[in-house]
Amino acid sequence: MTDIKSKELFEAAKRRIPGGVNSPVRAFGAVGKTPRFIVSAHGSRITDADGNEMIDYVGSYGPAILGHAHPRVIEKVTQACEDGLSFGAPTEREVRLAELIAEQMPSMESSRMVNSGTEAVMSAVRLARAFTGREKIVKFKGCYHGHSDGLLVKAGSGAMTASIPDSAGVPLDFTKHTLLARYNDTDSVKELFAGHHESIAAVIVEPVAANMGVVPPMPGFLAFLREITKKYGALLIFDEVITGFRLAPGGAQEYFDITPDLTTLGKIAGGGMPVGVYGGRRDIMELAAPLGPVYQAGTLSGNPAAMAAGIETLLILKEDPGIYGRIEKKARQIADAVRKAAKGSVCVNQVGSLLSVFFTDAAVRDYESAVLSDTRRFADYFGYLLERGIYTAPSQFEAMFVSDAHTDGEIAYTCRVMREMKW
Ligand SMILES: *Cc1c(COP(=O)(O)O)cnc(C)c1O
Repeated sequence: MTDIKSKELFEAAKRRIPGGVNSPVRAFGAVGKTPRFIVSAHGSRITDADGNEMIDYVGSYGPAILGHAHPRVIEKVTQACEDGLSFGAPTEREVRLAELIAEQMPSMESSRMVNSGTEAVMSAVRLARAFTGREKIVKFKGCYHGHSDGLLVKAGSGAMTASIPDSAGVPLDFTKHTLLARYNDTDSVKELFAGHHESIAAVIVEPVAANMGVVPPMPGFLAFLREITKKYGALLIFDEVITGFRLAPGGAQEYFDITPDLTTLGKIAGGGMPVGVYGGRRDIMELAAPLGPVYQAGTLSGNPAAMAAGIETLLILKEDPGIYGRIEKKARQIADAVRKAAKGSVCVNQVGSLLSVFFTDAAVRDYESAVLSDTRRFADYFGYLLERGIYTAPSQFEAMFVSDAHTDGEIAYTCRVMREMKW
């Protein structure tokens, strides 16, 4: 498998784009390789600039639940494009997408379209602060909510509550209202509420964490978050940018039967186009301008081609709910094959169609246990799969995404490759 053309493109890219990529994980830095430049993807297959065709388990980091370039989605996007790319005025498609979302996810009584998950989360947090008149947000270590200033935090030294910026360029003052708790650790949340309950506006959580690798919530963890936020008058925000429409038609909130106050969506909701959505209780959402005092806007928000991709993707999912059982089964087959072959030398976490192979023999249930993984062993595993035509995310801390387009034959092949690996 050659990568001559990808190498050439990467050299050119590095001259004009920082690091040669428009999002850092794409640089393959964690696995010490040159990124594959992609020319096309159809169904479960992705093809790079050197003509290598691979089985794709990245799925654009989530959107491609139906596989790439689903003919129905492409047709609707093409039609939308022919009618004009952007108007700066409301269109029927925005109404349809908001209606479809509310139908699948009843907590989304009212919702706003934006252009990325980052924007959706940033706006939801602003609303939560305005609604409660409080300033602090509780987030969990290892959960990712996009790259807005206040959410790029890590634990400071000393007291657990004093978080500091996790990126250069973020003023200390911008992160001082973000409190950090440990995923799956109810005591860490109780402590924060004990110290700050009058000032906590919201708890934001990935209901299944999928940005430190896949880490499922322990039984009762999400119910506990629902209870403690209610008790202290704080809001619960589910960041379902990955889990929305992936775990179930109604996302993690349906899967775990917990109703958040606000939800953020992205990825699948845009069917491969740049879309983010935030929404939830009508009384909270109506604080957004023009009805209320919370400012939020977007020149390209609700873009017709993007709405068309989101609508058609959600319609296909709605017509064929059997998809959730099918993709879960395929992910489970891969997870089982790895567990059997690796015999306790790795930890495999799988929820629905999401899975991660952690190179650690201990259970991974939070950030601290996730980072115990041996990323050098991960890099070897990544290279082994790539050489065999299996394209996965180039980081230990990303999920493997199974789609409805993966065939039984491809899953069987993937399981065989996993069995033959020297773990
Ligand atoms: C991807 C992601 C985001 C950010 O979405 P972008 O569209 O990349 O800005 C936010 N939250 C979660 C849980 C995500 O997985």
